[in-house]
Amino acid sequence: MPTVKYQKGDTVMGRWPGSSLYYEVKVLGFKPRTQLYTVIYKDGTELELKEQDIKSVSGFQTRSRSRSRSPSRRRSRSRSPARTTRRSSSRTTAAVAATAVTAVTESAPSSRRDSKLKDTVEVRLSPLQQTTPAENSSNNKHEKKEENNTASKVIEESEAKVEAESEKNQGPYNLRRRKADGDAKPELLEKAKAPPAPAAIHSTPLDFGGKIGAYFWLLFLPAWVLFVILQVNLKDPSLVNAPPPLPPLDAFWDAQALGFVILWILFQALLYILPVGKLSEGMPLRSGERLKYRTNGFFAILVSAIVAAIAVLQGVDLTYIHSHFLQLATATFIISVLLSIYLYVRSRYASSAELALGGNSGNVVYDFFKGHELNPRIKNFDLKFFCEMRPGLIGWCLINFAMALAEMKQQNLDAPSYAMILVNLFQLLYVVDGLWNEEAILTTMDLMHDGFGFMLAFGDLVWVPFTYTLQAYYLVSHPNSLSLPAVTAIVILKLIGFYIFRKSNSEKNAFRRNPSDPKLSHLKTIPTATGKSLLVSGWWGVVRHPNYLGDLIMALAWSLPCGFSHLLPWYYMIYFIILLVHRDSRDMSECRRKYGSAWDEYCRTVRYRIIPRVY
Ligand code: NDP
Repeated sequence: MPTVKYQKGDTVMGRWPGSSLYYEVKVLGFKPRTQLYTVIYKDGTELELKEQDIKSVSGFQTRSRSRSRSPSRRRSRSRSPARTTRRSSSRTTAAVAATAVTAVTESAPSSRRDSKLKDTVEVRLSPLQQTTPAENSSNNKHEKKEENNTASKVIEESEAKVEAESEKNQGPYNLRRRKADGDAKPELLEKAKAPPAPAAIHSTPLDFGGKIGAYFWLLFLPAWVLFVILQVNLKDPSLVNAPPPLPPLDAFWDAQALGFVILWILFQALLYILPVGKLSEGMPLRSGERLKYRTNGFFAILVSAIVAAIAVLQGVDLTYIHSHFLQLATATFIISVLLSIYLYVRSRYASSAELALGGNSGNVVYDFFKGHELNPRIKNFDLKFFCEMRPGLIGWCLINFAMALAEMKQQNLDAPSYAMILVNLFQLLYVVDGLWNEEAILTTMDLMHDGFGFMLAFGDLVWVPFTYTLQAYYLVSHPNSLSLPAVTAIVILKLIGFYIFRKSNSEKNAFRRNPSDPKLSHLKTIPTATGKSLLVSGWWGVVRHPNYLGDLIMALAWSLPCGFSHLLPWYYMIYFIILLVHRDSRDMSECRRKYGSAWDEYCRTVRYRIIPRVY
């Protein structure tokens, strides 16, 4: 029986594929069938390596030390001021990158060897990029020291390779820097500040049922939206009823509806680009860069509300939205598909640093569905952020408002029913809160990890406005009277849910933005190998997703006003449980991948996922 040289949990040096660089990695396991070790790098990247690409840390150190004792090597080092700087301090990240970029720029671009060298130079910088400015202020000094040590080990090892490569390969080109750092060209130094990221050379494990699942979801999601829209118009909109017959094809299409949708999106885009409101910084990308986002969502909903109110006062009949719901949904669906195609095509041309770790399975359908480019932007216009926060979310409130008007019209009421008012106010509060705290979206999974493709484009533009409004739509023709005590109880439930949701989201957001915020100093944390820490007390010590718990309580409060006659208005609650349970497990795997044993420790300390003592 073959012996397994490295054991699970061992810290070893793993070769970065395609280069001659070794990084400190942790062994996660060994697959006897393929004879490959699964290892995790400090930046969270998991790869499978052959035994020959792994070295023990002690062997590696011995070799590095013996190399540095070589007189010829010492001599060659002393000739290069840049290299001395590189080895001695952490100022190094920029300096090394400047050196590297210069070296690469000066080399012959067409040479295969040089491109290999470029890879070498780029890849070796990655461990130094992991500590973000915000996290630098973390009190986790031990880890930082360890990282720097590792990084310098890697640099030392790689220097020898670069040097050897460069000496072998110089020809008419001198790959060594001749000038001191201060002489570097400004644009190169600029690049150095944001050193290139390691390529997103692997995909995270496929989710949503993988490739087959992607086909399924692509068909199922639009079909489901159609199903519930047709159901809600029925007198007995039971979710367990057989689907109603499909309307004729021309019932789906209305050019005017398409025009309104386009106008709405353009209007929201205009509000988004206005230089009003804060410019917030996103979380550091793999490259170390932080994108800026115009977080003026509250302003956008305020202006939209004023415009809608003026329109109604001017006699515009917003109940058009109720009577043309299907056509509006179809028009938005077409736009989401076109947008997804555009996103997929542009992701094929994006550099590896711009891609999400998922969505690069190589299967067109899966990648189209899951989304590949992390932050697709047209100049400063961030498409994902815009779609997540604006046309769909604000559109949801507009549709709800239109449903309240339609209810009054259809049921000859002077004012909307209590149930309709509750649904409208609860959901308005949810959206306004999201837009008021828009910056918090920058630390969520969608923004940080998921590529932008059909899943999010369809979700943001179609799913949210056309299915989250079903409770209001349902109430238009299915009245449900509520007593005052019932109203009070539902309001209290909503406020409890909202409190948990807001407090927990804000706590995590504040911690991620500034881990040494004095207001959070009472919280306990677990350090992780990435330099980031995990909250283990406060809200995040109660359950692993306290924000989901709050959200679910709120979802319950949204369904209760519609009563128990039909399942349809409870659809959101049911769907949301499925969504959040699945989302939680996706996040668990992602965090397990990122934080390894620290995440296991967190899970051991905080045992329940969403509901204390239940789940
Ligand atoms: P979270 O906001 O919970 O973000 C998860 C991330 O938080 C993790 O990947 C990790 O990222 C970080 N994290 C996890 N545990 C800890 C910890 N103990 N300490 C510090 N950081 C931690 O997830 P979502 O993006 O899914 O949800 C955001 C909000 O949006 C939720 O309130 C959710 O209910 C809501 N939502 C609503 C939807 C709707 O349709 N109504 C749909 C989806 C979400 P890292 O460590 O990298 O920072």
